[in-house]
Amino acid sequence: MKLDDTMNGLRSVFDSAAQRTADVLEGSRGFVERGKLRSQLNDYYRRLGRAEYEAAVNGVTSMDEINMLIQKITELRQQQLAMEQSAQRGGTVTCPTCGKLNSAQDAFCPGCGAQLR
Ligand SMILES: [Zn+2]
Repeated sequence: MKLDDTMNGLRSVFDSAAQRTADVLEGSRGFVERGKLRSQLNDYYRRLGRAEYEAAVNGVTSMDEINMLIQKITELRQQQLAMEQSAQRGGTVTCPTCGKLNSAQDAFCPGCGAQLR
């Protein structure tokens, strides 16, 4: 009886340690993903600035590139927002179909529409 209590106690210590490790892994993966997204965004901001500059200096020949960059930035910002929110709530889920990292709150993948839960 006493040994059982000890074993059960140990088991719950191991379980909670494993859970903590999983939480840390999930958190650091989210951290890396958020960093990647941030540098992608910065890259697009730079490209947009350059496109605007060239348009100002050379005259606007086409808005296609600028519109494309603005659209891409808007998408990334939405992703970033979703990721920040899910980080606050503590959870991201990787889409099993397309591999996109989504908020744990999403019922469907915004990337491909697959059901997430
Ligand atoms: Zn997907």
